[in-house]
Amino acid sequence: MNRRLFMALTGAGAIWPGIRGCGAQPTLPEGLGNSGDAAFDTWLADFYPRALANGVPAEVLTRELAGLVPNPAVVAADRNQPEIARPVSSYIKGTVSDARVVTGKAKRTELTWLAEVHERYGVPGEVLIAIWGLESAFGAVMGNADIIQTDATLAADGRRRALFEENLIAALKIIASGDATRAQMKGSNAGAFGQTQFSPVDFLRTAVDADGDGKRDLWGSTRDAVTSSAAHLSKAGWKKSESWQREVTLPEGFDYSVVEGPRQSPALWLAAGVRPTDSAGWTPDDAASTAQLITPSGAAGPAFLIFPNHFTIRVYNNSTSYALGVGLLASRIAGDPGVIKPWPQETGLSAAERTGAQEALTKLGFDPGGVDGIIGVGTRAALRRWQQARGLTADGYLTPDLVKRLQAEAVAL
Ligand code: CA
Repeated sequence: MNRRLFMALTGAGAIWPGIRGCGAQPTLPEGLGNSGDAAFDTWLADFYPRALANGVPAEVLTRELAGLVPNPAVVAADRNQPEIARPVSSYIKGTVSDARVVTGKAKRTELTWLAEVHERYGVPGEVLIAIWGLESAFGAVMGNADIIQTDATLAADGRRRALFEENLIAALKIIASGDATRAQMKGSNAGAFGQTQFSPVDFLRTAVDADGDGKRDLWGSTRDAVTSSAAHLSKAGWKKSESWQREVTLPEGFDYSVVEGPRQSPALWLAAGVRPTDSAGWTPDDAASTAQLITPSGAAGPAFLIFPNHFTIRVYNNSTSYALGVGLLASRIAGDPGVIKPWPQETGLSAAERTGAQEALTKLGFDPGGVDGIIGVGTRAALRRWQQARGLTADGYLTPDLVKRLQAEAVAL
């Protein structure tokens, strides 16, 4: 039985024995659980003893959850999927804007403590500045949503309940610790806060007081926020002397089926004709590392070898485009001239085209791993297998023309 329906029918007294009273009414302190939204109140009654058991002080819990109501805008933002998916080239051009590069270069010079952070955590200043620039426009846009309400809304909504309950408990512990007040703890509709957009869980695990004022302040202290990012990346496995990505050229007749495939040494890639666009050669650390090949806008666009640090950047946002954007912005801030091969003209795919292609691939026996309208690693791999089977360039890059061809083939089955 659906858990919410079960609880509505029974009052859920049996789930947390000893915590609820013997009647149908949960024993919540006064002022809690009267939001006017039955599902939210049911969730709150369920959550309250769990938060207590996880070490949130009762007075903090009672004070911060009193009068809490869900925020419909948060649920809407969580469910929102763009009608037209933004092409990679458009995203990268927006991310690595000249204005952001200019500001980033100035900040990298101005923040003299970045060298110390690099020494201690291994993450170069340009990478941290790039993340700071993308996450909050260098501290200018941090979000105004109340994090307690946001995490409670998303936990009650239930799509990723465990994740947001964990974050809500962490947020309540941050308030209890005195690192931040409820009023300070404002952030995005996705529940991230501060100049480097941390989740409450990541805050508790890795945020640091770098300026030494006794508080971990990701809102008011750029030094705390940026150093906390370095600590976060370091903990996620950042490798001090390695690159994050390098643009490469591919030889004529290249077999694109290895794109997003093996992680192998630069020497093995070179043997397959994959070489850097510049003449700088590989550093000893990069030569000893492994890299994966990506072509984000297909065979017509630029190609990159991505190193383990690229994947570490994804702890912020598990997306190839995001990590590539951070990496390219960082390289530009460090003085790199930018991507050599021009980005091709790209057309955004509609939701109907995205799901249509996934349905057709499924029907044709090239399983994309579900039909969700998101062209991720699974869909690209399925597309590559289909392209290879049809003698096409197997770059896994979906265009409106390929959608039509896939659908025509699926209909003719
Ligand atoms: Ca501080």
